[in-house]
Amino acid sequence: MKQKTILTGIRPTGNIHLGHYFGAVKKWKKLQNQDTPFYLEIADVQALTDNFHQPEKVRKNVRELTIDALACGIDPKKTNIFIQSMIPEIAELTVFYSNLVTIARLYRNPTVKAEMKQKKELFGEDGEGITYGFLGYPVSQAADITAFHGTHVPCGDDQLPLLEQCREIVRKFNNIYGDTLVEPEAILSENTRIKGLDGNEKMGKSLGNAIFLSDDEETVTKKIMGAVTDPEKLKKDDPANPDICMVYYYHKLVNQDYVDTVCSECKRGARGCVACKKELIASMLAFLKPIQEKRNYYLEHLEEVDEILKEGTENARKLAKETVQTIKEKMQIHYFE
Ligand code: ATP
Ligand code: MG
Repeated sequence: MKQKTILTGIRPTGNIHLGHYFGAVKKWKKLQNQDTPFYLEIADVQALTDNFHQPEKVRKNVRELTIDALACGIDPKKTNIFIQSMIPEIAELTVFYSNLVTIARLYRNPTVKAEMKQKKELFGEDGEGITYGFLGYPVSQAADITAFHGTHVPCGDDQLPLLEQCREIVRKFNNIYGDTLVEPEAILSENTRIKGLDGNEKMGKSLGNAIFLSDDEETVTKKIMGAVTDPEKLKKDDPANPDICMVYYYHKLVNQDYVDTVCSECKRGARGCVACKKELIASMLAFLKPIQEKRNYYLEHLEEVDEILKEGTENARKLAKETVQTIKEKMQIHYFE
């Protein structure tokens, strides 16, 4: 039996938002307390696949994300945080694995398809401008996971097709070159996909529909005041359907003790949307406060953040080097001792 190892990643395309927190980070916090190696990749190379024209954005967000993760309670003593681009072995594996996947299969990948659609300004109306790098994103993710012998990958459900692609690559590799790699499994959290302020199925950094953990009071207020509610409710005391209301949806996340009252009052027409939004704003700010205090600490101690990243990357690289050595031997591309 292969040792259990947890590998997960986040793209430095923006700050951590509620979707990440409730969909992923909360789970990471639990998992880091198990006696299992835990690797958290800051996936800057993957961020470049659809941000290659904005290198300064990706660079800035490497530190921002690390600070967010630390502020949420990711503990660098338990979680190995590393920067993807500083581990060239991952890029090597990506090249090797690119022979094990067809272009047609990549085009069929539901996550690639969905993201292509969201990024029409970059990849064209019908994906005619799609790059080799973006299409190959699932291959690079297979390299991330296998470089660290990741057996378990905590993620949101948008990542499942990428994980399936990784499993296929692993099977093909093992078939051709002999049993070497392990097929990873997903660990889904209770909230596999947090919706956006606009009611979109997914809150996403790049979708303009997120509440970020770093948002200040004014921003949180503005965003929640603009959140999508039941469009049929016109007057304060009209009964409404909380199930299509984003305000109720976020009450469920940050206001668990009170959410039944919110629901029944809303259904009875005993709760106006403005008052409901104001309550949510207060609860959201209370939820964010300790995280933001920790964020401020790290913002004032950037040298600590850099040290954490350096150490995490060095540790991770040692393992990735060993993996590449093994893989090259299996592929018979090791030449001199
Ligand atoms: P981008 O739009 O730039 O891809 P993103 O918001 O999708 O950003 P990622 O860095 O791609 O963020 O994802 C990091 C992790 O967070 C993944 O495991 C992903 O599944 C999870 N995640 C992202 N958005 C959500 C969401 N709305 N609900 C649940 N999990 C999410
Ligand atoms: Mg994403």
